[in-house]
Parts: sequence; structure tokens; C-alpha cells
Amino acid sequence: MKTDKDVIIIGGGAAGMAAAQYSSREGLKALLVEEMSLGGQALLIEGIENYPGCPEAVSGFELAERFETQARKFGAEFLYATVKSLVKKDNVFTVETTKGTLTSLAVILAAGAKHRHLGVPGEEKLAGRGVSYCASCDGPFFKNQKIIVVGGGDSACDEAMFLSKLSSKIVLIHRRDRFRAQKALADRVLANKNIEVRLSTALEEIRGKANDKGIEKVSSVILKNTLTGETYEEETAAVFIFAGSLPSNQLVPDVPKDSGGCILTDEKMETATGGLFCAGDLRSKPFRQLVIAAAEGALAAHSAAEYIDGISAPVR
Ligand code: NAP
Repeated sequence: MKTDKDVIIIGGGAAGMAAAQYSSREGLKALLVEEMSLGGQALLIEGIENYPGCPEAVSGFELAERFETQARKFGAEFLYATVKSLVKKDNVFTVETTKGTLTSLAVILAAGAKHRHLGVPGEEKLAGRGVSYCASCDGPFFKNQKIIVVGGGDSACDEAMFLSKLSSKIVLIHRRDRFRAQKALADRVLANKNIEVRLSTALEEIRGKANDKGIEKVSSVILKNTLTGETYEEETAAVFIFAGSLPSNQLVPDVPKDSGGCILTDEKMETATGGLFCAGDLRSKPFRQLVIAAAEGALAAHSAAEYIDGISAPVR
């Protein structure tokens, strides 16, 4: 069976880049396809302090560069393109991208997840005008200004901590009466004097006002106390939303998934489709961490090599 590559990896976050490195080290012709920037969600994190082996916080950007350098060192190739479709026929995968169609014997899906939007009035209209999903990207625009952060998970806490270095007026609202975030992180947020935590508080609406150039920007929010039902308006310059993520599973509508849309695999990271592996945030699991994504990428690559050996002598 002659294919363009042995394995095609879709997605260039921690899982995809670890898969690219490990596939190449296994002697496979590996190509990683990424539509945006290599690094995935890690790029949004200013200081990663829990990645093993990095006792000093490392930026997501730097870690992504290290992943890429290491994968390239072992021979992995990279293509910047969007994957439009993925089809398997007679043990060959056909991957159609915006830069051409490629074939491979195995595919590792590591497409990750995208930010969940809340769907409240004003959110879409004011996105990029005070509504943001990335503190390190947009936080500096709101230095010393009031910022509302929405969410109670690790991302909301991490990003509130980041924003608290830019402004002393951070209000973190969460719809429930307790955090979902890891305790160590939540405790740090609670102890931060620049962050006011308001639990049992939901975002109902985001309002904007035109500035002197006629451009509408966030000016206030409508908040609701979920215990009393009371709603009130509060002025703010920005709203940063961290309400979890939606798995990027569109390429594989027929592959079994959990109720949240994340792909189910066996312990070798293989999906119900032979030769199709999944790793990282797109894969179903109870805990999402960079270290877990990278480990899954490595395991998926190893399993892909075993699978390829099992079906044929690949062209290398
Ligand atoms: P998450 O853990 O799913 O938390 C999402 C938060 O948004 C939850 O608090 C949830 O509220 C809230 N939320 C969801 N939909 C909402 C809505 N419609 N209105 C209001 N609030 C809403 O997502 P995440 O924080 O992005 O984390 C994703 C994964 O990445 C997790 O596994 C996390 O551990 C990991 N992560 C780890 C780190 C780290 O280790 N430093 C950093 C970032 C992310 P409820 O709690 O009420 O459901």
C-alpha cells in the first residue's frame, strides 16, 4: 500500500506535537496538519507552572516552540492547512485539506476544543470589543480597568490570576456556590486582593456604548444573584469568558463519543475505527492537562506504529 505518509496528525497542540515527535522516533513518515498556530490552548497561558520538569513557570508559547523543535528534530513534517474531510477506505485514510489531498495508513486526531460561548445577549456583538476568551491576548488592553471574569474552572481562575497583575479591579463571577477549579488554584484566587470573587452570580447580558469614534464597546453587564433572583447592572470595561470548551469533533460524525461530544477510545487511544487514534482535549476523559495531552499523543503514536506494522509493510 503506497500512501503519502504513514501517519497524519490533525491538530498542533501538546497532544499533536507529542504524537508527531513519537511517530517520527518510531520511524514513521509523520505529517502534522494545523490550521492556526502550533501550541493549541497552551498558547493562551502565560505561565505554565504544573508541567513536570518545568519547576519555573514557562510560557505556553515557549513550551510550544520546544515541542515543535523536538518534533522537527526527529523528522516530523508540518503543514498549515484546514482539514476539510477525513475518509477511510480499504485501510487507507484520505485527508482532504485546503492545501491538497493526502493519504496515510493511520490518523491521529488531536484537534482539541474551542471556547464555549455563553449565548447571552451582547456576547457575539461585542466580541473583540471588550468581550474576550483569552486573557494573555486581550488583557493588556484593559490595564487598570474593571474586568469581569466569568467561570469557576481552572481556566477562569488561571486567567483571573493573570489579569490581576494588570488591574486591581477584577471581579470573578461563577454561577454556583463553589469552584470547579483545583483547590490550590481556587485558594490562590480567593487570597488575591485584586480579585473580588462573587459566587452564585450569573451573567445575564453584556451591554455596550459607542465611544468617541462611534465604535460600540462593552460598558456594563447585567448580573443575577442565582440565590435571590435579584438582577443588577454593573459597569465594566471588559468581560472575559472561560466557560469550558466544545470538542472539535466535526470531522468524525460517526465515531462514538461521550455525552459531551468527546471521542471514546480504548487504552491504546484507538477509536472504534481501526487506525484512527485520538489524543488530547478531544478525547473523552475526566481531567484535562497539558501533561495528559502530551502523554496521550505519545501513546497514540506508539499505537499507530503498531497498527501500521500489523496491516502492512509501510512505505518509508
Ligand atoms: P471547565 O473545567 O469545564 O469549567 C468551566 C466553568 O465554566 C465551570 O465552572 C462551569 O460552571 C462554567 N460554565 C460552563 N457553562 C456555563 C454557562 N453557560 N454559564 C456560566 N458558567 C458556565 O473548563 P476550563 O476551566 O476551561 O477547564 C477545561 C479543562 O482544562 C479542565 O479539565 C481543567 O482542569 C483544564 N485546565 C487546567 C489548567 C491548569 O491545570 N492550570 C488550566 C486551564 C484548564 P459549573 O462549575 O457550574 O459547571
